[in-house]
Amino acid sequence: MAFSLPTLPYSNDALEPHIDKNTMEIHHGKHHNGYTTNLNASVANSDLEDKSIEEILKNIDMNNAALRNNGGGYFNHCLFWESMSPNGGGLPTGKLLDAISSCFGSFDSFKASFSKAAATRFGSGWAWLCVHPGGKVEVCSSPNQDNPLMPGIGCGGYPILGLDVWEHAYYLNYQNRRPDYISGFFNIINWDNVSRLYNLNL
Ligand code: MN
Repeated sequence: MAFSLPTLPYSNDALEPHIDKNTMEIHHGKHHNGYTTNLNASVANSDLEDKSIEEILKNIDMNNAALRNNGGGYFNHCLFWESMSPNGGGLPTGKLLDAISSCFGSFDSFKASFSKAAATRFGSGWAWLCVHPGGKVEVCSSPNQDNPLMPGIGCGGYPILGLDVWEHAYYLNYQNRRPDYISGFFNIINWDNVSRLYNLNL
């Protein structure tokens, strides 16, 4: 069964002014579509064809560059679209807020930590909020299309929130102002979805 490009859960202009329509069209329709097509080519006629993307990434041979880049790119962008909503922003609630408060001291400390991870990732990559078995949460970042499901990345757990800091994610609207893009992201974080993933993976 081939992987398919997910339909966006909102229109291309729904996240404006934080993420502009043109960026969304290209990012979803071209970049994510490319990762999807190339992932399908990488797993075709192999025993990976019937595996879930999570299973593929957890057991990946990190020397397989095509699978690493395109499998990571496929998973990461699926999570990214879900991480945002035109009705997002504000604060998480429930068990997730409790975990964030307990692990970071406060929501503001978490926000500072996540923003720093995203701002200081040199070149292309991602910032993550991950949940570990038992419920502790952690912030980390990874280069290129790597993610915490892959072996040896240096941050572990299950990623429940991801921010793409590749220039293709923000350059048309923000040019070199990555910190402004990061602060805009906080206005559209879909905390309901982050909570859903937290509760599924703790
Ligand atoms: Mn991207």
